[in-house]
Amino acid sequence: MLRPLSKPPSPEVVKVSLKDCLACSGCITSAETVMLEKQCLEEFLSHINPEKAVIVSVSPQSRASLATYFDLSPAQVFRKLTTFFKSLGVKAVYDTSCSRDISLVESCNEFISRHKHHIAGDEESVSNLPMISSACPGWICYAEKTLGSFILPYISSVKSPQQVMGAILKHHISKKMGYSPDKIFHVTVMPCYDKKLEAARDDFVFSVDHGGENYPVDDFSAMKIPEVDIVLTTGEVLDLIKLKSIDFKALVEDPPDRLLTNVDDNGLFYGVSGGSGGYAETIFRYAAKNLFNRDIEGPLQFRIIRNSDFQEVALEVDGKVVLRFALCYGFRNLRNVVQKISKGKSDYHFLEIMACPSGCLNGGGQIKPAAGQSATNLIQQLGNVYMQDVLIASPFENPIVKTLYAEWLEQPGSEKARTYTRTQYHPVVKSIASELHNW
Ligand code: SF4
Repeated sequence: MLRPLSKPPSPEVVKVSLKDCLACSGCITSAETVMLEKQCLEEFLSHINPEKAVIVSVSPQSRASLATYFDLSPAQVFRKLTTFFKSLGVKAVYDTSCSRDISLVESCNEFISRHKHHIAGDEESVSNLPMISSACPGWICYAEKTLGSFILPYISSVKSPQQVMGAILKHHISKKMGYSPDKIFHVTVMPCYDKKLEAARDDFVFSVDHGGENYPVDDFSAMKIPEVDIVLTTGEVLDLIKLKSIDFKALVEDPPDRLLTNVDDNGLFYGVSGGSGGYAETIFRYAAKNLFNRDIEGPLQFRIIRNSDFQEVALEVDGKVVLRFALCYGFRNLRNVVQKISKGKSDYHFLEIMACPSGCLNGGGQIKPAAGQSATNLIQQLGNVYMQDVLIASPFENPIVKTLYAEWLEQPGSEKARTYTRTQYHPVVKSIASELHNW
């Protein structure tokens, strides 16, 4: 039954914009017209010209999806993608695990700071726990639109790996490459459509002055430059391969661009456990060591709570739980956990919240199961492939991360690191379009 609007509708035409999309991947079609206009294969191809340096950043989840589809190893896929994109005129192809590792390092730093302020009983703005991961734009959009100001202070201020990659490229590497940021056209390959929404956020646009220094866009009226120009989903990259009639499996394998690709001398990618970025796992280990002087060897023992999409791990010291972290995937689980926070009944210190059931490997932009294959079977396969060709290492030990801090960000949590790797969130005032959504 239709529910009447509380106020008579405005006589103006109602426009549905990017900001009216719930971005849960379930209703992504409500914004697809706008997204496809601005972030599609045609737009990508149109920017490959002598005026611009086109740089493609590939997520490890997309690498795993293409590897599964083509029955190749993830390292082979990455090298073949390098060959493929460069044959189109792309300047460089990078793996986003270096930006994920910076995002993880900054998240560790932020967690320790919040925890210390929490124990000291400091004001809420610096001490809110549980800290909630911020890498999933589906979750962020839901929090801003539906939950609003109460939940936002709990969300980590650290940018997602996609946006940290944009910051690295346009604020730092551009200078090393000899390009002004507006001459770099940055394309990411991601497992979901929601990443297109993330790239379009005003918070991820900056401006450049004539001396070449970069500023937040509010400070300067010059040209607006996005950190990420276009997001292509894994499925769209597969469409591009088919469009170009390429025999992908037969492509030669170019060496990775090692300036920003986290690959060791044996061709292994630096990685962490966790198909959605490994936030809970990495911060848990770091906090155990840095707050309680406990080294955690071997895999973390997550305990299933309600279902496989809601698992928790705890650290006990002298019989008392001192850290309790959870993975919370899918809207059903995240609604429950958020409700507990709102009632002051949550005893978690950290929550890795992801909008998709099973997390990012199961994103809406990934390649669909083959004919006759179940979604569950594909997820299991992706989970195994994701960890192939990976050297599990602490993000703090990653050589590229160390170089980026030494050359540019100074140290975790420094003012410079905060300028380029942190963001903020905004409660969204409901529009007529969103009221219509609730009919
Ligand atoms: S869980 Fe991952 S794939 Fe799904 S919407 Fe969030 S970021 Fe995208």
